Amino acid sequence: MRPEVTERIKQMALDFTAQLSVVETPGEIEMAQLIYDTIADIDYYKKHPDLVYQLDCNDQYGRKIVVAEMNGEKKPSDKTIVMIGHFDTVGISDYGNLKEYAGNPEVLAEEFKKWKLPEEAREDLESGKYIFGRGIFDMKSGDAAVIGVMEEISRDIENFEGNLIYCAVCDEESNSTGMLTFVPHLVKLREEKGYDYQAMIDPDYMAPAFPGDPEKYVFIGTVGKIMPTFYVVGKETHVGESFDGLDPNRITSELVARINLNPEFCDVVDGEVTLPPVTLKQRDLKTEYSVQTATKSLLLVNYATHCSEPDDVLKEMKRVAKEEFQYVVSEMNKRYKTFCKMAGREVKDVPWKPRALTYEELYAAVREEMGEELDRKMAALLEELKANDKMDLRDKTFHMVDYLHELWSDKDPVIIVYFTPPYYPHVAVKDENKKDKALLKAVKKAIKTVKADPDFDYPLRQKRFLPCISDLSYATAPTSQEAIDMYMNNTPGYGEDGIYNLPLKEMQSIDVPVTDIGTVGKDAHKFTERIDPRFTFQYTPELIYQTIMNLMESWS
Ligand SMILES: [Zn+2]
Repeated sequence: MRPEVTERIKQMALDFTAQLSVVETPGEIEMAQLIYDTIADIDYYKKHPDLVYQLDCNDQYGRKIVVAEMNGEKKPSDKTIVMIGHFDTVGISDYGNLKEYAGNPEVLAEEFKKWKLPEEAREDLESGKYIFGRGIFDMKSGDAAVIGVMEEISRDIENFEGNLIYCAVCDEESNSTGMLTFVPHLVKLREEKGYDYQAMIDPDYMAPAFPGDPEKYVFIGTVGKIMPTFYVVGKETHVGESFDGLDPNRITSELVARINLNPEFCDVVDGEVTLPPVTLKQRDLKTEYSVQTATKSLLLVNYATHCSEPDDVLKEMKRVAKEEFQYVVSEMNKRYKTFCKMAGREVKDVPWKPRALTYEELYAAVREEMGEELDRKMAALLEELKANDKMDLRDKTFHMVDYLHELWSDKDPVIIVYFTPPYYPHVAVKDENKKDKALLKAVKKAIKTVKADPDFDYPLRQKRFLPCISDLSYATAPTSQEAIDMYMNNTPGYGEDGIYNLPLKEMQSIDVPVTDIGTVGKDAHKFTERIDPRFTFQYTPELIYQTIMNLMESWS
C-alpha cells in the first residue's frame, strides 16, 4: 500500500476506536453513523451518494448496518466481491478504572505504564511497537482496512472490473443481528442488480492456533458451531430407597465423561482438526433441597464442525445418549447385585430400559396422543416465550422441551436430544468448484506478492478454517435438505415466527467461499487487546487488495 493509504487507514482505525461501540449499547448506533459518514465522504460516494446507506435491523436497540456498493467502470460485469466487518466490541469493564480510556490508545499506553500487566503485554508496551485499545484489534482496524482499500480502488474506478459490496455490521459479539439483516439484503441486491457473488472477505482479527503461536494465517473457510443438548428424564426416589430410582445426574455425568474433549467427535478436513466438544452447562432441574433425588437433568454441549452437518451430529449424539444410558444401567446392575449380596437381599436387575428420542420424535409421540391440541398448546407457549424478554433464549428452548415432555403420558426414563441456539454453519472451501478454486488461488498469490516485499519478515501462510466463530458462517448453509429439516425440527421454537430463526434459504442461496484476512495483534477480548500496526495497516490492506485484484484477473 502507498504510505498515504497506510496512514489514512491508521487514522480511520484510531477514529473508530475512539468511538466506543460495546455490543448492545447506543455506541453501536453512533458507530454505524461514523462509518457511514466516513464512507460518504469518499469522492466516489460524493458522486454516487445512493450507493452508501444504512439499513435498519428492526431490533429493540434501533441498530443499523452500513452498506457501500462500488461498481467498476472498466466494462459491465456482474462479478461481485462481498466484504463484511463488525463494528461492535465486547464490553469495557475489564479496563477497571481505565474504562473511560478504553478507546484512547495514547492515554491507555501512559496509564498502563503504572499497571501490573502480564509479562508479554508489558514487553509489547515498552517496545512501542503495539497500539492498545478496545476494538482496535477486534476489529475496527479491519473495517478501516477495507474502507481504505475501497477508497484506493475508487481512485482508479475506470480500470476496475466488477463490483465490491462492503457491509459494516453490528452485534457480531452477541447474536449477529447485523449479519442476519445483511444476508437477505444481499439476496435482494442480487435480484435487483444482478450481482453475481464470487467470494466474501472478512478482515476480523487473525486468531492464533494456540497461545503464543508466532505464525500468521489467512483463513479460507470457517469453523461451524452447533449445540446438541440432552434433556434427561430419570426416576426420582427417596434417598432411603436409592436403588429404586434412576438418578438423571448419573446419566448426564456419564455423557460428560464420554463427550467432553473427546477426539472421537472431532471433524478432520485436509488435516485440520476441530477442537473436540466441551460442556457449556450441566445441571439438574431440582429447584429446592429435599431428600428426594432429582427427576430431570440437562446438558448443553458446544460442538465444533468442519464437515459434520446437523443431521450427522444429531444422529451421533442420539446414539451416544443411548449407549451411555445403557452403560449406566449395566453399572447400576453390577452395583446393585454387589449390594444385594452384602445386604443379604434377593439379587435382581434394575428395571430401566435405555432409550433416547430426538425432539422431533418426542413431538410425534405426544401428538399421537393429543392431536392438534398439542400444536395449539405449543403455539400458545411460544407466544408467551416470545413476549418474555427477560428469559434467555437457551432457557426458552429448554422450556419448550420440558413442557412438551410434561404433556406426554409416558413418564419412564428417557433422554431427549435436541439443539439449543445459536447455530453457525461451517464453511469448507474445496478445490472442486470454480469460485472456491479462484479464491484459493487469489489468496495464495496475494500471500506470495506480500512475501516478496523485502521488508516483510512475518511467517505467513494460508489455512483452511478460521478457528473462531464469526459472521462468515452465514454466507452459506448446508445444501442437504435433510440436514436443514433436522436442524429446524429439532430446535424447539425455531421458525420465522419463533424464538430463533436464521435466513437459511437465503444463506443457502448466497453460498460463496469465504476468507478471513485479518488484523494482526494479541489478546482479543482482553484489556491488553492490541495490534501490531506495521502488519495491520500495511500488510492486511495489501493482502485484501491483492486478493481482490487476483480475483478480478481470474474473471477475464
Ligand atoms: Zn471480531
